[in-house]
Amino acid sequence: MGSVTEAGDFTTWLRAMLAALRGDGESDVPCGSCTACCRSAQFVHIGPDEKDTLAHIPSQLLFAAPGLPRGHLVMGYDERGCCPMLRDEGCSIYAHRPQACRVYDCRVFAATGVIPDQPLVADRVEQWVFRAGDDERRAVRAAASFLADHPELLPTDAPAAQRALAAIKVHDLFRGDTAPVMDDVRRRLRAMRDPSRPRPQPGPGQSSPRR
Ligand code: SF4
Ligand code: SF4
Repeated sequence: MGSVTEAGDFTTWLRAMLAALRGDGESDVPCGSCTACCRSAQFVHIGPDEKDTLAHIPSQLLFAAPGLPRGHLVMGYDERGCCPMLRDEGCSIYAHRPQACRVYDCRVFAATGVIPDQPLVADRVEQWVFRAGDDERRAVRAAASFLADHPELLPTDAPAAQRALAAIKVHDLFRGDTAPVMDDVRRRLRAMRDPSRPRPQPGPGQSSPRR
């Protein structure tokens, strides 16, 4: 491992992450000068209710989001894989950035051990080191391993972010020494896939100001 970056107290981080995923708050990643996720050829989801964000992105950069109801859009990336709103000094619409960027937190990969699909993000993730929260960390890792061993629950070729978030969301079923009840895990994952509740997936995004 190269340089090390303090990822914070694990229990505090996990609570905040779960709240952000419920739509209750934003991630607060100490990104520093990193812009890896904004330079990783990712599509950013923007929901129909994100009026302020939509008002700050040129319409020619937005496209209908595949598989989601009408009104859900995505913003693409340029020929270098960079978000078109990224500038040398950082996100040019930081105060108006999409919800997907507000909840994105690459520490989910460090927490779960899932390898990100984007090499730049993977390099960044290697630097995170959490403090404390050993029991919860074990539960999160156990959930990620369980899902990796059960592709019938979640395909192993699903996006890494989806696999990491799934492990976070079901981790409480893996606390203690008792084996999880398969149906409980299945039910929880099914609820995550409810198409009537499209959620911002962790796409590119910067979660804390560094500018
Ligand atoms: S969230 Fe994105 S910008 Fe922030 S540290 Fe992670 S990869 Fe870098
Ligand atoms: S935070 Fe989001 S909108 Fe801003 S540059 Fe990064 S990916 Fe683009």
